[in-house]
Amino acid sequence: MFPRQRLLHCNRCGHALQYHVPPDDNRERAVCTACEHIQYENPLNVVGTVPFAADGRVLLCRRAIEPRRGLWTLPAGFMELGETADEGALRETLEEAGARVRLGPLVALLNVVSVGQVHLFWRAELLHEDFEPGPESLEARLFAAEEIPWDELAFRTVRRALEHCLGGSTALLSERVG
Ligand code: ZN
Repeated sequence: MFPRQRLLHCNRCGHALQYHVPPDDNRERAVCTACEHIQYENPLNVVGTVPFAADGRVLLCRRAIEPRRGLWTLPAGFMELGETADEGALRETLEEAGARVRLGPLVALLNVVSVGQVHLFWRAELLHEDFEPGPESLEARLFAAEEIPWDELAFRTVRRALEHCLGGSTALLSERVG
């Protein structure tokens, strides 16, 4: 079962929460002991891109923050309220790599059930090559297929999205990863 993040306090009134199955529900929820507010916990979306240069090289960023500091990743991050998933992917690519891209098709929908996340990656075309990595990245650079640092990738979803895209596929890879 998913290792639930144990919430402690009600986000409405601040009193203690207790986990139990509410009436008319079928799974355990965090329920406030004072105001009976039910605090639902649901998966989060991570959105990002697999950015390709015109010569077929792919853009990776080296993480400046934990977790997995120093390892390579695709530009991606948590979707924000008030944006669409593809807007989020564009924003993360700009924030982490300083790269402007044109989005292509959605190529990966990866369910990371163990941590309650869904990762979405779009294939993207780089509009320039003068990157300016943001504070979350140590560097951003282009890799030819044979240069990809497979043993230094930060996340399994990044590996799966890269494996899928480097094969040239623009179909949607949809699977469970962990
Ligand atoms: Zn409450």
